[in-house]
Amino acid sequence: MGVTQPRHRMSYAKMKGLVSFFTALLEGKKGGFSNFIHKLVSDHQIFQHLDTQTILLQESLREEREEEREAREEREARREREESEGGTSRLPSLLENETQVKPSDFHFLKVIGKGSFGKVVLARHRQSGSFYAVKVLQKQVILRKKEQRHVMVERSVLLKGLQHPFLVGLHFSFQTSHTLYFVLDYINGGDLFYHLQREGAFPEPRATFYSAEMASALGYLHSLNIVYRDLKPENILLDSGGHVVVTDFGLCKEGVSVGGTMQTFCGTPEYLAPEVLLGHAYSAAVDWWGLGSVLYEMLHGLPPFYSHSKAEMFENILHAPLQLRRSVSQSARSLLQGLLEKDFNKRLGGEHDLAELQGHSFFLSINWDDLLARKVPPPFIPNLSGPCDVRYFDAEFTLLPVPASLGLSDMSANGAFPGFSYMPSAEVGVTEP
Ligand code: ATP
Ligand code: MG
Repeated sequence: MGVTQPRHRMSYAKMKGLVSFFTALLEGKKGGFSNFIHKLVSDHQIFQHLDTQTILLQESLREEREEEREAREEREARREREESEGGTSRLPSLLENETQVKPSDFHFLKVIGKGSFGKVVLARHRQSGSFYAVKVLQKQVILRKKEQRHVMVERSVLLKGLQHPFLVGLHFSFQTSHTLYFVLDYINGGDLFYHLQREGAFPEPRATFYSAEMASALGYLHSLNIVYRDLKPENILLDSGGHVVVTDFGLCKEGVSVGGTMQTFCGTPEYLAPEVLLGHAYSAAVDWWGLGSVLYEMLHGLPPFYSHSKAEMFENILHAPLQLRRSVSQSARSLLQGLLEKDFNKRLGGEHDLAELQGHSFFLSINWDDLLARKVPPPFIPNLSGPCDVRYFDAEFTLLPVPASLGLSDMSANGAFPGFSYMPSAEVGVTEP
């Protein structure tokens, strides 16, 4: 997870959304009438309507049938050609290998997110009809940031074993010559950044629930010796039932350029622990700092130590005392002070990890077994009309055109990311509806 440009603050993000909306429309006008219509149809509000979704879905099914028919005709024509040439010795290409997942297996429907390495796109698996969030990363961009290769390989291996109710599930990963694809659970209740942007801050019981589910996910990662390192509201999604799903984990961590000085630090330090900012050796305790930062933001509407000036924020994280609102309860106060302790040796969770948090009075109302079993009722249930509903994604993303190149299956991987592709045997030839 690299450092993306901050989506903060409210007015900035809204303004950006508006600007990109009009830019998209204007570009559409330049790009031709059909493009323009496409963008109009992509309008966030319009897309929320069930009717529109049904039309789009029907349209996508029609397109798929069309594409399938064309592909079938092409295959038949090729076979006839080969037979007439008397040659049957051609080896099956990767593209024809049924067990190889490839871009053309998916219908890419909507851009739902964007980061420093690429896009996240809502896609429908043509054969099974299931919806997925496909994270698409451009190899060139990753390679330009150096040393990504090891992490990509290592992470894809790590991801295979991860199974937790509050961590996003990886179904497949595959690559084409220029692009890496992660096929993830599609989580459409919106990220915490989206909800905080609209609501300002959350009441304490809501913040308690999200913090507990996040803590549970982090504790699980730590038990596998994985440090998440970069917790922030953008990476915390809500599923359709209102439960937390941590996404964007373990990927491209060295995109975060750590070092001792502001000059070498690119991106925003908002959620980073002092030891990470300083480029010191760090432990799992960085994640408890991250949890403290997100909890603080859920209660205050801004991250702790926030300043418009990056340099000042950097200074504040390292040296300024924590300032808490008077309305914050005694137990929340104590938890925040414990988590946002600058000295990681003294930080809450630094010694016995999740267990230390679970014993804290802030989480007194949480039954941790019930929580893990997803039995604690979420305080907010997203209002969704179906899997195609993208109302909780910023129009800033959903208005972007889906690049046609995403669905092209040029599987001649260029060797820079060996071991990246992943497909659990259970999902070979996905058939569930
Ligand atoms: P990086 O930090 O490496 O730049 P990123 O920010 O590009 O990563 P993500 O954080 O994984 O990538 O995704 C960007 C956005 O896309 C998220 O903030 C979220 O809104 C959306 N998103 C990511 N994964 C999913 C998912 N599985 N389901 C739905 N939306 C997702
Ligand atoms: Mg992210």
